[in-house]
Amino acid sequence: MTEFYLDGKTKLVILIGNPVEHSMSPSMHTAAFQAIGFNGIYIACKVEKGMLKEAVEGLKALNILGANVTIPHKVEIMKYIDEIDPKAQDIGAINTIVNKNEILYATNTDGIAAIKSMKEAKFPLNGSTAVILGAGGAARAIAFYLLDYIDHLYLTNRHREKAEHLKNELSKKFDVKITIFNFNKNELKSTLKKSDILINCTPVGMYPNVDQSPVPKECLNKNLNVFDAIYNPIETKLIKEAKSLGANAIGGLKMFLYQGAEAFKLWTGKDAPISIMEKIIIKNLKK
Ligand code: NAP
Repeated sequence: MTEFYLDGKTKLVILIGNPVEHSMSPSMHTAAFQAIGFNGIYIACKVEKGMLKEAVEGLKALNILGANVTIPHKVEIMKYIDEIDPKAQDIGAINTIVNKNEILYATNTDGIAAIKSMKEAKFPLNGSTAVILGAGGAARAIAFYLLDYIDHLYLTNRHREKAEHLKNELSKKFDVKITIFNFNKNELKSTLKKSDILINCTPVGMYPNVDQSPVPKECLNKNLNVFDAIYNPIETKLIKEAKSLGANAIGGLKMFLYQGAEAFKLWTGKDAPISIMEKIIIKNLKK
C-alpha cells in the first residue's frame, strides 16, 4: 500500500445523503484510493432536503470529482444533474455522480452490481423465472437489469399498487411476462415452486431484526437460487434457511461491493481493488 498523503492536488469524492453517519463508503473508498495510489479522499456529507440543489451546485463550484447519493436523495437529485444514463432514467434513481469538467453525469450502479454477484454465484439467469419481493429502490434497480435475461418475472409488494406501477413501467421497456402475486404464505409457496430465482428487495431480516425473514422456510425449496439484497447481517435468516435446504443462496455484500467498484472506476478510470474494499466492509460490519 502506498503512503497516505493529502496535498493541493487531492481529489475529493463525497457521499450525499441523510443520515450518513453509519456509511461504510468513506473508509472503503479512501482505502481503495490509497491502495491504487490515487490521490483522493472520500467524505460523507449530511445534506438536508432543502439544500440539495446547493449541494449539487457545490460539486461544480468546488471542483469535486464525484459523489455517491443515498437515501433520501436518490430520486430528487436527478433534476439537478446534466446527463443521466438511460437505464438510471428508467430506474428513476441515481447513486453515482461524476463531474466531467463541470458537466455532471449520473448513473445507478446497484442493478449492474446485483447481476454481477448473481452471475458470479452461477444463478441461471438466461431464460429463467424469477421472483422479486419488494418494489422500492433496490427492486427497481435490479429489475431493469434482470429483465435483459429472464423470461418470466413474478413480482410482489406489501402495497400491491406499487408492484402494479413497476410492472407497467417494466412492460414499456421489456417484452417479458410479468405476473403480480399477493405477498402471503400460500402464494409465495406456489410461486416459488415454479421459479428458479428468488430476490429479496425488502428490508425484512436486516439488522437489528435479524430473526425475521420475508419468506417462511416452508415456502423455500432446494432448487431455488436465492439473492438477498441485505448485507447487514452478512447472512440473513432467509439465506441461512435457504442454504439449510440445499439451495444456492447469497447475501447483498457483493452487490454493495460491486456498486462501489463500478463508481470507483467511473471516478478514477481504474479497476477497484475489490479484496481491499471487501476487507474494510467486513471489518465495519463486525464492529
Ligand atoms: P425502499 O426503497 O424503502 O423499498 C423497500 C421495499 O420493501 C418496499 O417495496 C416496501 O414495501 C418493502 N417493505 C418495507 N418493509 C416491509 C415489511 N415489513 N414487509 C414487507 N415489505 C416491506 O428500500 P430499498 O432501497 O429498496 O432497500 C431495500 C433493501 O435492500 C434494504 O434492506 C437495503 O439495505 C437493501 N439494499 C442493498 C443494497 C446493496 O448494495 N446490497 C443496495 C440497495 C438496497 P412498500 O412499498 O409496501 O412500503
